[in-house]
Formats: sequence, structure tokens, C-alpha cells
Amino acid sequence: MDLTNEMSSGKMMGMEENTQSAFSAFDFTSEDVEIAMEKLAEEASRGKPICMCGHPEGRHGWSDSLGMHYCSANKQNCKCKKMTLVIEADYARVFLRKTTGPGPLHALAQGIRESEKADKGIKWIVDVACDRCKAAGPVSPCPVNQRGSVMYEDTGLNALLCSECRLANG
Ligand SMILES: [Zn+2]
Ligand SMILES: [Zn+2]
Ligand SMILES: [Zn+2]
Repeated sequence: MDLTNEMSSGKMMGMEENTQSAFSAFDFTSEDVEIAMEKLAEEASRGKPICMCGHPEGRHGWSDSLGMHYCSANKQNCKCKKMTLVIEADYARVFLRKTTGPGPLHALAQGIRESEKADKGIKWIVDVACDRCKAAGPVSPCPVNQRGSVMYEDTGLNALLCSECRLANG
């Protein structure tokens, strides 16, 4: 029993006791179930297409009542206006970040980073090139406004931009 964190563990210990007593009827452990659920979740999210907004295809949909496309990836509801699938990820459930700017601040970059940290497969399904000048090579995912300027908030419009185009439209 861990008494070092009595305040926060009180409830937890109660839960554990319940789990243990229910599980004593089984000839496998609650940990076995955790492993099985983890495996199922992983299989379910294998090879899933991810939109340029940084969220899985499955999070996107069409609302008849609103008469518009939506992306319900996070609590704030991503503003994604046009689904553009750019990568396929074996760990789609980490692609739930919120975009607050270009490059490292973009949900797509953060999802890819999390996926890599977890050592999960990921591949581009588009030829990576600047959406504006069409030059192939390193780009940044950027939220842009209607005029194409790079923004520091989720605008629902995203573009892959090379550094030159990014600076020209910052
Ligand atoms: Zn999207
Ligand atoms: Zn989204
Ligand atoms: Zn460019």
C-alpha cells in the first residue's frame, strides 16, 4: 500500500479492490484485459488516413443540419473546411492535437511526432511539395486565412508551405 500519496490514491485503492474482487472469478488478470484492449485499439487504428488538419479521416463528416463539413477531433472542434488526406498512420489515435500556428504548432506535426515517439508506422500519401510555389522539398503545415496568410490560430484552412512562401505570406 502506498501511503505517500494518500489524498489522491484513496479513491483509486477502492477501485482496485473492486476490480480485484470481480476479477477473482476469472483465470486471467485485469492486466491481460488491458493488453488485449490495447492490441484491439492498435489494430483498429492501423493505416488510417490523416487529414492535413492533423486529424483522422474518420473524425470528419458532413452535417446535414449545418449544411457543412466538420471535423470533431478535439473538444474545441477543429475548424477544418476541406478534408485533404496527406499521410497514413498506424497510430491514428494520437492525431487529436489542436493547431495554434504553423510548423511545430500545427496539429499534423505534433501528431507525427507523437506517432514517431511511440515507434509507429507512418507514411506520406501525397508528394510533399509547397502548395503555393509547388517546389518539392521541406515544408511546414500552416493554418492560413482566406488570403493565404499564415495565421497563429486554427483557421480551418491548411497548407503545406516552403519557408520562402511562408515568409512571404507571414
Ligand atoms: Zn481535416
Ligand atoms: Zn481536424
Ligand atoms: Zn513555396
